[in-house]
Amino acid sequence: MHTDCIFCKIANKEIPTKFVYEDESVAAFKDLEPQAPIHVLVVSKKHIANLLDVAASDQELLSHIMGEVIPKIAKELGVDEKGFRVVVNTKVDGGQTVSHLHFHLLGGRSMTWPPG
Ligand code: 5GP
Repeated sequence: MHTDCIFCKIANKEIPTKFVYEDESVAAFKDLEPQAPIHVLVVSKKHIANLLDVAASDQELLSHIMGEVIPKIAKELGVDEKGFRVVVNTKVDGGQTVSHLHFHLLGGRSMTWPPG
């Protein structure tokens, strides 16, 4: 846990936040500034700064998030039928503003391409 990291504080319940999903390694909560009717942030409880900082020992965690947690939340929030988008902004050009790896789950409207 990084003491100055907002997502560490949320994931470790230092900042009270209603979780959409939680298990021993992952927490998910609504984005403060939703960009779609459904906009959930899925974060690891372990501090990982971004996708480039993922270690070999994190593979199971990432597989769990992408392959289990995100599909489960998508189904529970009812965006599995029409679909959704998962975004991982990475560093400055990727638009990352919080340096704690997070997956945006966006749904509930039709998405456009290319992204801005
Ligand atoms: P990024 O720009 O790093 O990809 O995404 C960071 C996201 O975190 C943004 O969509 C922003 O609205 C959201 N965010 C920033 N601070 C907080 C917070 O304290 N609580 C919640 N729920 N979301 C936050």
